[in-house]
Amino acid sequence: MFESLTDKLSQALRNLRGVGKLSEENMAEALKEVRAALLGADVHFKVAREFVERVQQQCVGREVLKGVSPGQQIVKIINDELVRLLGEGATELSAARPLRVLMVGLHGSGKTTSSAKLAKLLKKRGYRPMVVACDIYRPAAIDQLEILAKAEEVAFYADRNSKDVPAIGAAALEAAREATCDAIIFDTAGRLQIDETLIDEVKKLRARVQPDEVFLVADGALGQEAVNVAKAFNDALQLTGLILTKLDGDARGGAALSIKSITGVPIKFVGTGEKTENFEIFYPDRLASRILG
Ligand code: GDP
Repeated sequence: MFESLTDKLSQALRNLRGVGKLSEENMAEALKEVRAALLGADVHFKVAREFVERVQQQCVGREVLKGVSPGQQIVKIINDELVRLLGEGATELSAARPLRVLMVGLHGSGKTTSSAKLAKLLKKRGYRPMVVACDIYRPAAIDQLEILAKAEEVAFYADRNSKDVPAIGAAALEAAREATCDAIIFDTAGRLQIDETLIDEVKKLRARVQPDEVFLVADGALGQEAVNVAKAFNDALQLTGLILTKLDGDARGGAALSIKSITGVPIKFVGTGEKTENFEIFYPDRLASRILG
């Protein structure tokens, strides 16, 4: 078991007993622990540094509360700040009907699975969803989406003979209209790295289908590269939300803090397993506890 941050801080702050006020000097060791905890949770180093600076500003000069250890007091300040940052700007899903959602992200991040998960959730909320396969490079990805759509009994659209992604998108919208589907989820192709050609293709698709939401699907275990991935996708596609996947594993989910801090894009949903029901609305306090350990 990992030692919790509170335990580590209590040790780092033992010398603070009897100190009346928190200061830069008497908190230095504790803040080092905080920074280490954030880095251990895969938070980007710049984001971790800025976060610690903000916490420091909030702590310095504060009276040490009676009956509460300085460690507990600082952990609370850190936790509150983390919850605030993670939850800031959180919005519900767009109320547009039909609702058009573009799912983007790196290959293997969980886009296809999350497309089906989102369709399932929307179906529960009374929508008639359609999932659209826009990955023209991997026939297996189209098959995977089709299987998931069948299992969830939601409409599915693909054109296995076309290589024109924006045209596939437009045809899907038409098919959705005919089938009276009112939530259309576009599952796009991903690569192992950010790639100009791919971004360009998704940009064209975006222009054609005019989505109400553009969700970046990101693996919760994404490390320092999370910032570059999110920036590249956000600059090109103006993301409206983040779906953080694979939080059922060991990942501490620091990528979410990095992405949120750098892009300001709110976190909307989290994936907590391979099954379509393993999908939850995002709660900032849960992720904050996970990041802090
Ligand atoms: P894509 O390439 O982005 O479309 O990714 P996929 O949807 O094909 O997912 C890649 C792998 O990650 C698959 O084996 C999925 O079952 C798995 N996966 C997706 N989301 C989750 C999740 O939240 N938890 C876990 N444990 N696995 C997931």
